[in-house]
Amino acid sequence: MLAAMPPTPASSPNKGESLIRDRGDACPGALRLHRADDGLLARLRLPGGLLTGRQAEALALAAERLADGNLSITSRGNVELRGLGDACGGELSALLADAGLLPSERHERVRNVVASPLAGTDGIGHADVQLWARELDGLLCAADWTPRLSGRFLFTLDDGRGDVAGLGGDVTLIAESGGTAVVGLGGLTYRVAGRAAPRAALAAASAFLAAADTAGNGAWRVGELPAGQTVDLGGALEGAGVEGVRVGPGGVGPGGPPSPGVVGGAVSVLAPLGRVGVAQWRALLPLPADELRVTPWRGFVIPGFGDDAAARERLAVLSGAGLLTDPGSPWLGVGACTGRPGCAKSLADVRADAVPGHGSLPVHWSGCERRCGHPHGDWVDVLATRDGSYEVTLHTGGSTVPVTGETLTETVTTARTTTKPTATR
Ligand code: SF4
Repeated sequence: MLAAMPPTPASSPNKGESLIRDRGDACPGALRLHRADDGLLARLRLPGGLLTGRQAEALALAAERLADGNLSITSRGNVELRGLGDACGGELSALLADAGLLPSERHERVRNVVASPLAGTDGIGHADVQLWARELDGLLCAADWTPRLSGRFLFTLDDGRGDVAGLGGDVTLIAESGGTAVVGLGGLTYRVAGRAAPRAALAAASAFLAAADTAGNGAWRVGELPAGQTVDLGGALEGAGVEGVRVGPGGVGPGGPPSPGVVGGAVSVLAPLGRVGVAQWRALLPLPADELRVTPWRGFVIPGFGDDAAARERLAVLSGAGLLTDPGSPWLGVGACTGRPGCAKSLADVRADAVPGHGSLPVHWSGCERRCGHPHGDWVDVLATRDGSYEVTLHTGGSTVPVTGETLTETVTTARTTTKPTATR
């Protein structure tokens, strides 16, 4: 069962539409492994980023016994194991299944659900969208048709604070005061009852698939549908028995990732460059509420500390383990792709080259133009080039602005602190 598996075929063109790609969906999963330069890679979907203590320990065991001893966090709050041997056979899948991390083999790659990681902990959001994430995951795994979704199709569930609403979800749920939610798909938005929100999200996914079938262009994501393609979200809601009223886009708070430190009764920390070793991972345990939330900013939230002193004590332990616990750390907002030596496409060891620094914008170091795992919204792109240097580009408001300076560190800092673009291309 555990092997590099063939991709899902691309669908056939329909109505004369040309396919937007000529290959199937080879997105890695926990069972469909990807062959990288440093061995096989497994990507485990964690809806809402949620892990119990037992599941977190199972992942630590998998990392130390079967992989290279590290756990990488993705920009969707999932976990990757790298350096897996060809002969690890069914051991990984058995270990994950035994911990309840593979509720359905058929659905494992479509459980792409990001939810506000502080939901229900600090009194800021309008609903506990972590509960919605669990319900939506159950619905996804129970439906026969959902394995047709691409491994890239994303649900984002925002509790109203605005932290995950901008992360590029195909289907969004935004909790509102008064017990309602806005479900969004492309430019369409409907208000539904909060208790029906997970069912509404599933219905939205079915509306996308119906539109993709009609378009016949092999779209994996909403943004890949042909311009002007009709999407019947209202009809899909009705078909699912969800009452919805067409509204404008839902309003959200200012958002942003949780700061490191103690927030409400929770501890929030980040993984340097998105990767931790097994010892660092185990420093997150035990979990007072049996919950670890992996965040799409490559961090962790541990809810449920009864008193401030206990939370601060854990924070000190995590700081000692090398996790980012200080809101003033120059490594906050600095990310990097895998780069050399793990990725054959990389032109540089970007993780070794990445430099700390300050600035309001996140920065991402990439070994090639694919820019795997880059941030959404405004960000600074540091791209390795064939001549052994890096190109720095500011991505802001849909424009790209090249940035130059005396030294690379100075250039990156200038870009991260730039608020207004001076040129576009
Ligand atoms: S951005 Fe390029 S070099 Fe980096 S991990 Fe992705 S494919 Fe590899």
